[in-house]
Amino acid sequence: MSERYHRLFSLPDNGYAQGAPVVLAAGALLKDNQTGQILAQLKIRSLSQKPIKAATVSLAPLDTLNKPLGDAISYQYLDLQVLRDGDFGSKTPIPLPDPSTRAFSAAVTEVIFADNTLWTVGNDPWEPLGAPVTLEQALGDKELAKQCQIQYGSGFRYQYQAEKDLWQCACGALNHQDEPRCHKCHLERTSLTSLPLAELKASRDKRLALEQQQREEAQAAAAARAQKTKKLALILVPVLLMALVVGAFLGKSQDTEEPSDAGSAVTAPSGGESAAAEDPTSEIESMLHEVAVPLLQPGDLFFYKVDGNTVELVVAGASSRERPFVADMPEFIEYVSGTLTDAFSDIEVEVSDAGEYASPEQAEDMINRFIAEGFIYLEI
Ligand SMILES: [Zn+2]
Repeated sequence: MSERYHRLFSLPDNGYAQGAPVVLAAGALLKDNQTGQILAQLKIRSLSQKPIKAATVSLAPLDTLNKPLGDAISYQYLDLQVLRDGDFGSKTPIPLPDPSTRAFSAAVTEVIFADNTLWTVGNDPWEPLGAPVTLEQALGDKELAKQCQIQYGSGFRYQYQAEKDLWQCACGALNHQDEPRCHKCHLERTSLTSLPLAELKASRDKRLALEQQQREEAQAAAAARAQKTKKLALILVPVLLMALVVGAFLGKSQDTEEPSDAGSAVTAPSGGESAAAEDPTSEIESMLHEVAVPLLQPGDLFFYKVDGNTVELVVAGASSRERPFVADMPEFIEYVSGTLTDAFSDIEVEVSDAGEYASPEQAEDMINRFIAEGFIYLEI
């Protein structure tokens, strides 16, 4: 289904006549595809400190060559309660009589305020105000524009402009010439006309240097974490193999104290009999010590859990050796898990990186969780 209204023409934004209490923020000429009717629609924004209760506009229809098409049409908006910066008109279509109308010009001719005072248009023409220029465009420097927002607030986005009897604030609001501060964000007009550019540039440079340093540190930390994950994966494979060698361990819950049920145990390779007779936990542990100690850093906390044919390993430690490691405040936590999918052939090692920088509280929570989940703890 095609749209009901087809746009034939748009007015330039922000039409204004010197001294007017409103701007013609936008306007459009629409064709109703169901009835063939031509409709004008205006969006009018109040610049007035007094509430507006009525306004009259004059629309001059133009043909497709922009030539006048009959008499101007007058339309009155009634029963308004529009405060400063408020809009009206955009939901009020104004029918134009000539179906060959393809453009129009518009002027607000009269505004009646809530206190029954009146403004009427003079001889000044309705012309579009200059388009707002963003600070980024004006300064030609995205980071300098960002610095202005850091210093003056996120709404500080436009270049100061003075036109006719108005000035446009950095926040985009239009103010009257006799207003020393923006009525919306309360910035002083004089502070906008002379931005302390040298100061802003120095702050920008300082911030960029700091951001660069933080990026480098984050990259170094990520590299260190990747290295840890790799090491954990290296540890995981021999541990899985050990779990296999300690055959009695497989297929049994970890807290089985007496691996005596040889009949149901997975058949161990040669030597399995003696291995099965020993405590599998200590076998795994000594294996972990043997494999893990040379790969990890002194002081790292190492957790492991063997459950059936799945081995999970966690290391918590400092990401950088330049910073002293504090045992209960690890800077990162790495996690890998491996599953022995087929006793003698495939070892599937799934490495999942949970190595976000942990705050001390997060780290403590995670470590407590590992312990609660039955992980066994070793200090390297
Ligand atoms: Zn402002």
